[in-house]
Amino acid sequence: MTMRVGSGHDTHRLAEGRPLILGGAIIPHAKGLVGHSDADAVLHAVTDALLGAAALGDIGDAYPDTDPKWKGADSRLFLTETIAKLNQLGWKPVNVDVTIFAEEPKLGPVKSAIKSSLAHLLGVPADCVNVKAKTGEKVGHIGRGEAIGCHAVVLIERDVGS
Ligand code: MG
Repeated sequence: MTMRVGSGHDTHRLAEGRPLILGGAIIPHAKGLVGHSDADAVLHAVTDALLGAAALGDIGDAYPDTDPKWKGADSRLFLTETIAKLNQLGWKPVNVDVTIFAEEPKLGPVKSAIKSSLAHLLGVPADCVNVKAKTGEKVGHIGRGEAIGCHAVVLIERDVGS
């Protein structure tokens, strides 16, 4: 097997009147993330990490936020299409480790829901997905509860013969 590692990062602003979706899971909260798509910062970071591992550019190249086609888009589509693209090249995800930065809501109670959703979308066992949560220590845009950020690292593999 050949293996490659990739990393991704994303941040979106929090605002009232939007659903909060992280890693494809709907999280009960008074505010949600703002963006051209559904603004799922976790799926955007994971998608970017997969694209990075396969040396396929970034999510902005694949799904430009200037394209009305992606307005309000379900970010699960970005991830599943990206995995299909990698599969065509012989790559499949091995494991993913994400760190979510959020002052609010408290993510401890919802980490397992995010983990299950990511495992399902990536097509990997649950023990190949890890979700960590950090606050912003009351500092900066995340610490003031104005935004949520995510950092993701993924490993992908393919047969040497592919
Ligand atoms: Mg984004």
